[in-house]
Amino acid sequence: MKSLIMTRDGLQIADTPTPPLMPGYVRIEVRSVGISRTDLKIWSGEVDVDLPLVLGHEIAGVVHESSDPEFKAGVPVTTESHLSCGSCFHCRNKKKHLCRAKKKLGFTVDGGMTEYLCVPSELIHKLPDPIDFLTGTFVEPLAVAIETYTRATVNPEEQVLVIGTGKTGLLVSQVFDAFGADVYLLGDNQWHLGVARQVGLGNILKRFEDWQKKILSATNGVGPSVVVEATGTHEGLQIALDIVRSDGTIALSGRSENNFNLDTRTIIDREISLFGTARGDFDMAIMMLQKGRIEVKRMISKQFSLEQGTQAFEAATKPENLKVNINI
Ligand SMILES: [Zn+2]
Repeated sequence: MKSLIMTRDGLQIADTPTPPLMPGYVRIEVRSVGISRTDLKIWSGEVDVDLPLVLGHEIAGVVHESSDPEFKAGVPVTTESHLSCGSCFHCRNKKKHLCRAKKKLGFTVDGGMTEYLCVPSELIHKLPDPIDFLTGTFVEPLAVAIETYTRATVNPEEQVLVIGTGKTGLLVSQVFDAFGADVYLLGDNQWHLGVARQVGLGNILKRFEDWQKKILSATNGVGPSVVVEATGTHEGLQIALDIVRSDGTIALSGRSENNFNLDTRTIIDREISLFGTARGDFDMAIMMLQKGRIEVKRMISKQFSLEQGTQAFEAATKPENLKVNINI
């Protein structure tokens, strides 16, 4: 089978053995895989992992062969990406994604930029109609966005500021909006802001305008009770700390490989809570996509084949492209 392999010399297409089906596993015939920010950081060398490695953890495809009668050949599916040990404290307490011994698809074990991939059947979720393969690659990041909403405990019609207009920012904004929050989206990328409008987000704040005035006016001068930081930058975190209401919450949704200087005095004096989210409820994400509550296909800017892997990654770094998928 063909695989797109990340090596010290960049991405290469290679013939690799089809993975054998082990008991309790499902072999997925991959149809589409999203390029995530983590994939891009491995590709650019910003994140160091053991190479060679097949990247990709936002995966959709069909069951090719299965040792679990629940998943018949040909059924459309997606997969969770955390492979846990099953016996540690977190695994025994239904928090398998926090397993200290976990492996992650496309990070510590081979991921989805390949024709076939074997994963434990407990990680597989069916994709019901009308969820197609492109939409299916959004289940994993959408699940995380839903969990961010759940943990932020925002009240209906309460103002929420989302900083960042990439895939995460737009998914989080749509989730908070779908659950009734009054979402304000802050960004400076004109292409991404255009997509934000297309997916129905109304309160767009442009970074280089007087956006603070607008959000303060909407919140009686006290600032939003919840701010979601989805840029993964120190600047984004500083904006969040400056604007969040005292006694408010900041959700950290943008991953960064850098350590930030944290203004702990502000956090203590203004009683601000911070939290992060690594995994969410796949079933809820699938349900929201099935019911059309979240618009994801307009977020896909470009699509490439597996053989065009390098072009796909180059395209994914361009500011005009919000999301790039590889179809197999
Ligand atoms: Zn474990």
